Amino acid sequence: MTVSSHFPIPQTVKTVQGSIPFNRLGITDAHNHMWIETVPGADPSSPVLNQFNSILQELTEYREKGGGTLMDCQPGGCGRDGNKLLALSKASGVNLVACTGFHRKKYYSQDYWLWNAEAQKICDFLCSELDAGLVETLDTHSPIKAGFIKIALESTWAECPHAALEGAGFAALESKSLIEVHTEKGALAEKICIYFTNLGLSPSQIVLCHMDKRPDISLQRELARFGVLLEYDTFYRPKYDPSVNLWPLIEKMVNSGFSNRIALATDMAEAELYRFIGGGAGLASLPGEIQSQLIKKGFPEIDRLQMLGGNIARRLAGIN
Ligand SMILES: [Zn+2]
Repeated sequence: MTVSSHFPIPQTVKTVQGSIPFNRLGITDAHNHMWIETVPGADPSSPVLNQFNSILQELTEYREKGGGTLMDCQPGGCGRDGNKLLALSKASGVNLVACTGFHRKKYYSQDYWLWNAEAQKICDFLCSELDAGLVETLDTHSPIKAGFIKIALESTWAECPHAALEGAGFAALESKSLIEVHTEKGALAEKICIYFTNLGLSPSQIVLCHMDKRPDISLQRELARFGVLLEYDTFYRPKYDPSVNLWPLIEKMVNSGFSNRIALATDMAEAELYRFIGGGAGLASLPGEIQSQLIKKGFPEIDRLQMLGGNIARRLAGIN
């Protein structure tokens, strides 16, 4: 693999409306889904989020509650539509950051090109979405650039798409981008950290998603010390018992001095979690109820601000 360096060191964050200074992101949901088209050939249980007016209402409420930015974690080929994200961002006044990369295999049609491609080709494709624009926006007058890479691990290393992982790693290295990693309930967290840092990535470029589904405090502290960001998002998923697992985990991590290693999110891929579609908690719960809970529980402001956006904003901008 060859790694060139035509990407400048990013000082800003690439939103769908253009680059903005990292300190203007405000409260940032580090993992969410604002648009998912139906994907022919994908697993029938794959989520779909395409109710434009309801999603817009949700984003407007997010802004009214004090939210600034959300990261859209749906990569191309499994339902992403950068043009819809742009329209939603413009209409709501909320910054949206789109991604390139790949999700779990079940969310694609089986003949999706990436699963049989070589690492170099995947690296080139991801770099072009980061540098030139998302494929579905290339024929518009202002193509939208991906602001980060999102990839997915399966439950076991053997099931993971190895060429795609390598391609994504080299794309992150070349573009100095942040890479968000979907984990299956925290599985393979240690493995992927070693894998990517062996390729040359800095731990500060890696975000491990859904780590609160594996609330082992000694593992969490170890990963935090290593320097990766840990994304927690089960606030509204009763089956993970957030009052027993997530909230005490946040408290222990903050008390251990690791509020700079946590990014909070609500990951509402399922329409029933949206307030104006399914009557759920809704996107606005991050700046709303979750922020209120953090205040009520007595977390210092500096810790709250880091977990609610400061940490992910700096890392999206390549600062740390
Ligand atoms: Zn997600």
